[in-house]
Parts: sequence; C-alpha cells; structure tokens
Amino acid sequence: MSKQTAPLFQLADVSYAYIPGHPVLSDINLQLYPAQNLVILGANGSGKSTLLKILAGLVHPTSGQISAFGQELTEKKLQDPAFLSEFRQRVGFIFQNSDAQLFSATVRDELAFAPLQLGLSAEQVEQRIIETADLLGITPLLDRPPYKLSGGEKKKVALACVLTANPEVLFLDEPTNGLDPRTQFWLVEFLASLQNAGKTIITATHDLSIVEEIAQRVIVLRENHTVAADGTPFEIFSDRELLLDVNLIHERSHFHIGGAKNHG
Ligand code: ADP
Repeated sequence: MSKQTAPLFQLADVSYAYIPGHPVLSDINLQLYPAQNLVILGANGSGKSTLLKILAGLVHPTSGQISAFGQELTEKKLQDPAFLSEFRQRVGFIFQNSDAQLFSATVRDELAFAPLQLGLSAEQVEQRIIETADLLGITPLLDRPPYKLSGGEKKKVALACVLTANPEVLFLDEPTNGLDPRTQFWLVEFLASLQNAGKTIITATHDLSIVEEIAQRVIVLRENHTVAADGTPFEIFSDRELLLDVNLIHERSHFHIGGAKNHG
C-alpha cells in the first residue's frame, strides 16, 4: 500500500486493561490503510476482539491514541451526536454472537433499523431492505423473527443489518465461529465480493483456514498482548516457529500454506 495514502486508522502506543494493572493490549502501534484487508490473528485471549472494538470506537484505550479517518477518536468526541452519527455510518461491526446484534420482531425490522437511523425516506428504506436482502439471499426470511433462525441465517441477517447502512469499513469478530462448512465457504466468498466492491474488511479470528482468502495483511497478537508479527499471509504462514510460539498451531499440526489446516 502506498505510503502516500492517508491511513484509515492509526494507533499510537495503545494499551487497554479491563481490570487496572492487567493489560489485555500493550503498546500497540499500527497504521491501517483503505482497502488493505486485515486479519488480526492470535490465540484465544490474546486481545483480538478488544483491538477490533478499539478500532470500531466501542471501547476506548486506557492509554495511547487512536485516530480514524484523519481525526482523533476519543470517548468525548463520540459523545458528540454529529460525530457519532458520521462515524457510525462509516464503520459496521459484526459481533461474534449474532444474538447480541439482533433484537427486532422481524428480519425486515432489523434491516430497516440502520437506514431509518440515517434518516432515509420510507421508500429509500424499503429499497435498501430489498437490495440488501437480495444480496445476502435472505429475502424469504424477511417476515421471520430473527431469534428462530439458524446460526448461519442469523449471521447473514447480522451482516445485512450492517450493510444496509453502506459502511466503508466492516469489522468482523470471529465470523466463522459456529458456522457449518457450506456457510463458512459462502461467507468467505461474500467477504471477497465486498472487498472487490471497495469495502475495507478487518477481521479478528483464530481460524487460519480463512486468512489467505480475506486478507492482504495479517497482524499476529502474542499471548502477552503485544504485536508478534505484521506481514502478508504468505510471510506469516511461512514462519512455523512464530505460529507455534503464539499458540496458533500445535507442534503436531499438519499446516501448509494455501489451505491452512490445523489438526492441533
Ligand atoms: P480474543 O478475542 O483474542 O480471544 P479478547 O479481546 O476477547 O481476546 O480478550 C482478551 C482478554 O481480556 C482475555 O483474557 C479476556 O478474558 C479478557 N476480557 C475480555 N472482555 C473482558 C471484560 N468485559 N471484562 C474483563 N476481562 C475481559
């Protein structure tokens, strides 16, 4: 990525602790560029989800600075309704557990929520619902209550809810968790199509099998909550010692580049 392009996100010495004195992120320095699709990789508990939430403005660094779209992102700024509304339109967050995201009586109401918040007219809202449901293949589900859907269907509805706002950047937390193989395959293909449409996709995962398909850049978090490595999927997956060291593979794993498998 050209260094002339302004970064979308910049983190300078960012640390975070849920409990004082027990950091779950330590001194993270990062610059993320538009259309540079990123995977944050690390063992369970390494801090991936927290880093994703910091980038999305859902939690705020205990120390250090973050800027997004050229402006400093602080708790105070996000309390300004105009700033919050613009920021929320530009980024979408897909939670690991779709149930945390779905609360309306029907899928149609879920999909209407974001465009209504954006102040679109009734016709425009309906148009967004129809287009997005079609894109995700969930039109037959529109009148169903979300809580009665399967895990894969809920994931599609959660994605649709975020996409109705047409964000530039999509954050996904462990998106393949709990999905059957066919839905996982569909998801990876769908994310690739979003990237081709110009979205920036930032994904936290420990699922090595999806990384090469959805990322040009990988940041690896160590279990001590620091950045262990930053490179292309090829560079990261060529470094078996690194993957062992950060607990992403076991020494008996049959791991190979281009179809990562973890039998650990
Ligand atoms: P990952 O996504 O890599 O599994 P997380 O960012 O979810 O890691 O969590 C990092 C660490 O922070 C873990 O030790 C986890 O138990 C702890 N943690 C996460 N959320 C909370 C919370 N709300 N309160 C206290 N500790 C938390």
